[in-house]
Formats: sequence, structure tokens, C-alpha cells
Amino acid sequence: MRYDAIVIGAGPGGYVAAIRLGQLGKKVLVVEKRFVGGVCLNVGCIPTKALIHAAHLIHEFDYAKKSVGLNVEYGGFDLEKVNSWKEKIVDRLVRGVKTLWKANGVEWKAGEAKLLDANRVEVTDDSGKKEVYEAQYIILATGSRPTFIKGFEADGERVWSSDDAVSFKSIPKRLIVLGAGAIGLEFAYVYRYFGSEVEVYELMPQILPGTDMEMANELEKALKRQGIKIFTNSKATSLRRSDEGVEMDVVVNGEEKKVSGDVLLVAVGRRPNYEGLNLEGVGVDVDERGFVKVDKERRTSISNIFAIGDLTGPPLLAHKASREGIVAAEVIAGESSLFEPRAIPAVVYTEPQLASVGLSEEEAQERGIDVHVGKFPIIANGKALSMGETVGLAKLVVDSKTDEVVGVHVLGPEASSLIGEGVVAIEMGATAEDIGLSIHPHPTLSEILMEAAENVHKRAIHIVNR
Ligand code: FAD
Repeated sequence: MRYDAIVIGAGPGGYVAAIRLGQLGKKVLVVEKRFVGGVCLNVGCIPTKALIHAAHLIHEFDYAKKSVGLNVEYGGFDLEKVNSWKEKIVDRLVRGVKTLWKANGVEWKAGEAKLLDANRVEVTDDSGKKEVYEAQYIILATGSRPTFIKGFEADGERVWSSDDAVSFKSIPKRLIVLGAGAIGLEFAYVYRYFGSEVEVYELMPQILPGTDMEMANELEKALKRQGIKIFTNSKATSLRRSDEGVEMDVVVNGEEKKVSGDVLLVAVGRRPNYEGLNLEGVGVDVDERGFVKVDKERRTSISNIFAIGDLTGPPLLAHKASREGIVAAEVIAGESSLFEPRAIPAVVYTEPQLASVGLSEEEAQERGIDVHVGKFPIIANGKALSMGETVGLAKLVVDSKTDEVVGVHVLGPEASSLIGEGVVAIEMGATAEDIGLSIHPHPTLSEILMEAAENVHKRAIHIVNR
């Protein structure tokens, strides 16, 4: 059976690539071994955001009663119902992907794919039956899975991976989270609002290593006020598991400490999936960290084999995977297309949310840019106040020589949506003046970006400029 292209893996990289290939008239087959929609739709972006929304609703009850004057009482939750609501959202999106494939003439097959050579793929289905498919081009989109420190491997009972945490089968009384990246913090937030006592331990000196330090520190303070205990500069050294729970040895700021809990969630990173894919056999090169090497067209070392998404390395984000999928599909269809974004946004969906795009203040300084910073606090924004939101700020990092915006950071409600403006600004080479001169609707959260841009030149209206 011969196709123009075979896509291996149906996450946001692979399923999107297949749709674009279909749109461009290509005969395409997708092979998926576990779940259509990949990590993102099934155990990543979507179910976590559903749980975060549920946690936020719990939080809102408190505010509605204490501050707004509504006679509402939070009466607890039904874990089974919360889970089935979450699963319905996932199912609906997965069905949507299948509908879009059908509409675009994309075929798909459930099974595990293995490369036989640069044009042939062997697919083994659940019953063990093998079939071979041929294509002119192959796109590898097999994603990533959680990685563990030796001795801290997930067992699904006392030590969880993100897959266990998202299955949301129980709420541990005491949850320890190892790793204060986006995944660790999002689960810390969810479980805290569902009643767990949560402690987070992070190896690096700040949460969200690599993120603008001031913004990360502000988020850390906000999460601590919600009762989440956070320890940075903390190296976990050993772990003991028992029927009662876990006990972890951890060195916090040089001091040894024993920490115990009912469950440990390990969220220390992810690694690429290609076991059994036979990359070596066909000559597809990987880098020193194990990610598949690609060029700007997303071609691997074998020119008719492309690779996209988590498999090709950081940032491990769905929207990066999808864009790479679109580029690979367009190149295969003979169009001129390159993956060379100026900036890729990243969001932590706690409440408040932290969204960033472009350079942090520290990165800009390291690159020798003479930095100007403009800031505006959420508490001075009318819309935020009417929503009961007072924590957060917008921060623009600007090159003082050109006034060009090189970084945009937002901590606050809907930061994930607001950051879209920052992405466009950086992609278009906008200046702080451009953003400040653009009339933003009132009253909206988006005004904080306009005011932060004005603050770069000490001309924001609704704060005392410093
Ligand atoms: P994946 O989504 O991993 O899909 C790869 C697919 O390939 C899988 O379905 C797998 O079964 C299949 N596969 C693997 N090997 C084979 C084979 N040999 N044959 C056939 N099929 C195979 N990103 C965001 O942008 N925003 C978020 O809010 C966000 N939240 C997240 C929350 C969590 C808890 C996690 C774990 C991740 C989150 N991510 C988020 C990251 C996001 O899920 C990934 O970046 C994204 O899924 C990567 O897409 P992908 O297509 O590269 O791979």
C-alpha cells in the first residue's frame, strides 16, 4: 500500500501535519499506537486544563462568598463525576481530530510503527498482526514520555508520573512534588485546591528555571499564599516507599531534610520516544541529548524522513509541535516553508497564570542588550479588580537602542490569552511605542500590556511611573 506520506504518531505534531497534507491533496496515512491526539489531548494539555478549571471554580466559591456577597457554599466534589467530565472533553476533541482527518481524506491505522527503511513502515496492531506500508515521505512525530531520577521511578501507587496524576483517581492527603516546572506546578495547584497538603521541591535556585526571574518569584509568592510549600535549591537524594507512603531525603540549601508524604509526583522532565522505531537502522541521527536532529524544514539526516514535535527537542510544547507539523507537510507538498519562529510562547496555567514569550530580562542582559523594562501591575487594572484578581503584572523587556520589544511576560488572569499580543509584537518587530499607541479596549485585561509599554517611557497613565 503506497502513500505520499506516512505520519507516525498522532499528537498535536502528527495529527496537524496529516491535516495539512490532506488539505494539500496528499495521500496520507497516520499510524498511532496508543491514543489519537497524543499526550496533549489525552494526558497533557487538555485534561490538565480541565482539572485546573475545576480547581479554579473551587477557589471562586470562596471569593464569591467572602468578598462578593453571594450566599454560596462549596459542598465538596464527586471525584468520579469530575473525571467523567474531564474525559468527555478529551473524547470530544479526539472525535474532532478524527472528523477533520476524514474531511481531509486522511487515513489512519492503530498500531505500533517501525521503520524498515527510508520508505517502508511496518505496523504491528494489538493482535500482533504486521503490515507493511510504503510512502515517498515519512514524518516521525512520536513525542516524549516522562523521565525519572534513578530510584524515583513511578510505580502508579506511591510514586506518580504526570500520567498518574492526570488520571485523578485519588486525592492524597500529603502530596510531594519533585520539580517546579510547568507540569509540577500545575498539578501542585490542582491538588492543593482539591484538598492535598502540597510541598514542591526544585533543584534550581528558582521555580520555572529559565523563566524571567522576577516573574517566577512573583508566581512563587502567589502559590505560597495559596498554601503550597515551595523549596528551591533542593536536591532529592533518596526515596523509600512503604504501604503508608513515601519518605524522601532532600538537601535543601545545603541542609539535609527528611520529607514524608502519601504520594510523590515526579515531574523532572521528559525524554523522546523512539524505542523500537529503528532510527539507527535507517540512519536517522539524534543529538547528544537523544532528540532527533532536524533542519529548518524539519528534515532529518535522511532527506525524505522528517521529524517534528517533542521528538526533536525543547521547547516541549504542543503549539511548537503543530507548527513544525505544518512546515514539514508544506515542504513535502513542494511549498516553500521553514520553521524559524522569532519567539515561541510558554504558559504555566496555575492561577495566576504565567505566560512568557521572547527573552527574559536576564537573557536580554546576557546577550548584551541595553535593556529597558516597562511594567504594569494587575491591581491597577479595572477589569482585573472587577474579577477579584489583584495578583500579577505585565512586564515588557525592550531594547533601549531601538525600542524593539524582545520579551513579554504576563502574570495574572488570562495571561495565556494575553500573551498572543506579545507573540505578534515580537514576530512583527513591534516597538514599545507601537504597543503603547495601539488603542486597547476598556475595560479589559489587555490594557495592562498597553500600560506596561507606556511605562517603558515612564508615561503609563494609571500608575505613578518609576
Ligand atoms: P505526543 O503528543 O507525545 O504524541 C506522540 C504520539 O506518538 C503518541 O500518541 C504516541 O502514542 C505515538 N507513538 C509513539 N511511538 C509510536 C510508534 N512507534 N508507532 C505509532 N505511534 C507512536 N504543551 C502545551 O503546549 N500546553 C500545555 O498546556 C501542556 N500541558 C501539558 C501537561 C502535561 C501533564 C504534559 C505531560 C504535557 C503538556 N504539554 C503541554 C506538552 C504537550 O503535551 C507536548 O508538547 C505535545 O503533546 C507534543 O506533541 P507531539 O505530537 O510531539 O507528541
